[in-house]
Amino acid sequence: MSAVSAERKEPLLQVSGLSAGYGGMPVLHDVAIEIFPAEIVALVGSNGAGKTTLLRALSRVLAGNGKIVLDRKDLMPLTPDQAFQTGLVQVPEGRQLFDRMTVQDNLLMGAFRRNDKAAVARDLEKMYALFPRMAERRRQLAGSMSGGEQQMCAMARGLMAAPLLLMIDEMSLGLAPIIAEQLMDVLAEIRKEGVTVLLVEQDIHLALSGADRGYVMETGRIVHSGLAKDLIDDPEVQRAYLGL
Ligand code: ATP
Repeated sequence: MSAVSAERKEPLLQVSGLSAGYGGMPVLHDVAIEIFPAEIVALVGSNGAGKTTLLRALSRVLAGNGKIVLDRKDLMPLTPDQAFQTGLVQVPEGRQLFDRMTVQDNLLMGAFRRNDKAAVARDLEKMYALFPRMAERRRQLAGSMSGGEQQMCAMARGLMAAPLLLMIDEMSLGLAPIIAEQLMDVLAEIRKEGVTVLLVEQDIHLALSGADRGYVMETGRIVHSGLAKDLIDDPEVQRAYLGL
């Protein structure tokens, strides 16, 4: 795994004035977010709020206007592949594993851009330590595993790319609450390694209970932001999103 120093006080990711949409239909409006090294930041909001669209704009799959800087590099002129090589790695909604490949081959696919063979081998062992279930299942076809195991495999595959920022879209979707909570615990472990995480979730309570800070998105705009524990206690957030 790779990471910038957690000592650095400037943001790892800086987004401002970002707008983007589909075929002339605007979806994101003047979005601004900052993520500091080794933070876990939750991006939450209801269905259709624009969370996935923001991830698409960050990974440069979707054109747009504004500023996106990762590790002091301007991502706006980059292709998705170049953004990936800069360290912006996405774990997609629905996992999108190679179902007919083994767990180990899926993990190695995550490292396909890396030439540092010894470090890749070390990272593979780190993944098996982080996800012991993946070690047990390393020779099993990815498509034959449970939803929770597939999510672990997708997260480990993302980490094998040695990301600066790992963006996870709908980590808990379709998973039992206990499995989702286990995955949140893994994020805390990943953060100890200095990896920074942007977690996109519809399960707002889960995301805010495991994150340091959060952004709440509504119809393509950031409407609340702050420390995750403050957002959980915010009466407006509770009323609108937590059913309290
Ligand atoms: P969900 O959790 O349901 O994925 P989301 O917050 O990620 O929600 P987006 O998927 O980003 O929301 O969708 C935001 C808006 O953009 C919605 O109005 C949606 O209909 C629209 N949209 C999403 N993808 C496309 C697309 N490929 N073409 C046109 N409009 C799209």
